[in-house]
Amino acid sequence: MDVPESVPVLIAGGGPVGLATAVELRHQGVRCLVVEPREEVSWLRPRAKTTSARSMELLRRWGLAETVRARAPLAVSWSDQAVFVNSLLGREITRIGGCFGLDLVGSDLAAEPGQQVPQPLVEEVLREAVGDALLTGWQVAGLNEDAGGVSVRITSAAGEEREVRAQYVVGCDGPRSVTRAAIGARYEGRQDARPNFNVVFRAPGLAERMPHGPAVHYWVLNPAQPGIVGRLDLKDTWWCIAQGVPAEGADPMRLVHNLAGAGIEVEILATDPWNARMLLADRYASDRVFLAGDAAHQNPPYGGHGFNTGIGDAVNIGWKLAAVLNGWAPATLPATYETERRPIAADTIEAAAANMSVLAPELADPALMGDEAEFEKVRPAVAEAVLRTKDNEFHSLDLVLGYTYAGSPIVAEGAGERLPHRWLSPGDSLYDRLGRGFSVVGDQRAPGAAVLAEQARELGVPLQAVDLPGEPLTLVRPDQHVAWRGEDPDGALHLALGRPSEGK
Ligand SMILES: Cc1cc2nc3c(=O)[nH]c(=O)nc-3n(C[C@H](O)[C@H](O)[C@H](O)COP(=O)(O)OP(=O)(O)OC[C@H]3O[C@@H](n4cnc5c(N)ncnc54)[C@H](O)[C@@H]3O)c2cc1C
Repeated sequence: MDVPESVPVLIAGGGPVGLATAVELRHQGVRCLVVEPREEVSWLRPRAKTTSARSMELLRRWGLAETVRARAPLAVSWSDQAVFVNSLLGREITRIGGCFGLDLVGSDLAAEPGQQVPQPLVEEVLREAVGDALLTGWQVAGLNEDAGGVSVRITSAAGEEREVRAQYVVGCDGPRSVTRAAIGARYEGRQDARPNFNVVFRAPGLAERMPHGPAVHYWVLNPAQPGIVGRLDLKDTWWCIAQGVPAEGADPMRLVHNLAGAGIEVEILATDPWNARMLLADRYASDRVFLAGDAAHQNPPYGGHGFNTGIGDAVNIGWKLAAVLNGWAPATLPATYETERRPIAADTIEAAAANMSVLAPELADPALMGDEAEFEKVRPAVAEAVLRTKDNEFHSLDLVLGYTYAGSPIVAEGAGERLPHRWLSPGDSLYDRLGRGFSVVGDQRAPGAAVLAEQARELGVPLQAVDLPGEPLTLVRPDQHVAWRGEDPDGALHLALGRPSEGK
């Protein structure tokens, strides 16, 4: 692909968040360029597996949810269980059901249930959707921002160098973000001391020998090697996190045998050491450069929130930049991105750190590894501790679906939450009726509907009417959050675009 000289939006980094930002911009009809060094997604580094119900709703909004589900090796109907065991081939201690919103099939709470799917597979679907806006084999080396735009220096693996002029840059270049450094922002927070060691392995016949049945997580509470194991597919590929294992001297084969059971046939496919981090950028933006995803925040993976939070970032900054570039919002609108998204990252870091305070090493008990009588003696107390301490990690819809932009300067008082979802008829989601721009949902004969339509005409804002006879009016933003609800929408759309002084 030829490198363009200029583009409206340049996205640094084509991980899940950079790609999602590009998909949102394309959804809104805005051209962009994603600069990404990796030619291929990292199949053997499948970090995220939990795609939340909210991310699946956003993928549905882009028309991609079905593709992700069709390609996911573990169907949503396969299991919504987390099982706590003393070994994969050993005894069950307890289990938690309805994990990660996987049980929301057909529920009014969400347009989509969650999905267990390896991160590289989601990235692959997003790469296809981004198409020729993805420039692989190049990386961002530096940027210079001025009043009119941003000059971005990019370099190729072969050592070539080019400059691309962009009106805006979104920095989705992960933990070691060049973009974050370029705008003088800094991570604040800390790293957890405990080292973790991920292994992807092949174990033919393990599933058939294992007595615990389908589950998305198997937590192994063996004090000799505590950790979490799961299936990557329904063939023979598995992932595990061995907790408390430093990279130096780690023996992946021994780790897998300790977690899964001695004597099973194992082929190690990849290893990936990591430490949990609780980091939040002290600011998210300059005038024309915005940070999203891990470049802006990092949280421990427990609860499965990392890239899901980044997808929320992508949609928020994406629609706002598009609204400016499409000419229907003032240039000040994207400044509300940080106001709305940074507190959500802070809440997510806090929740994920709380999940991390009790993990398999804390729950493990030597008596679990004893004979049947010893196991049975200690089992009720361990099961009680599991259910008491791990519920929030597996059931976090308050965070996943309940995050709100209440208090933002562009939402009216009493608004800000995600539009409550419901099925209008089986398979017919209220969300499928919403427009790509704003929507007014409710009884279109109410006088406020005409007032909002007039504001939209005046401001050139796309406004989709969704007629629900007898229901109060709700003004819904492109990201499905409520901007205003009530009877008198005087100035409502102006406020939602950050033009309050023009509204009345
Ligand atoms: C063990 C583990 C399990 C996890 N499980 C979950 C889970 O279940 N659910 C969940 O939501 N999250 C999970 N996460 C977190 C998730 O993996 C990250 O939050 C996610 O990858 C962040 O996406 P991103 O696009 O922001 O950053 P990254 O995935 O880090 O992508 C950044 C991209 O930028 C590119 N890049 C780097 N430097 C440059 C440059 N100079 N110029 C251009 N491009 C550059 C990189 O090549 C990369 O593609 C987990 C993490 C771990 C460690």
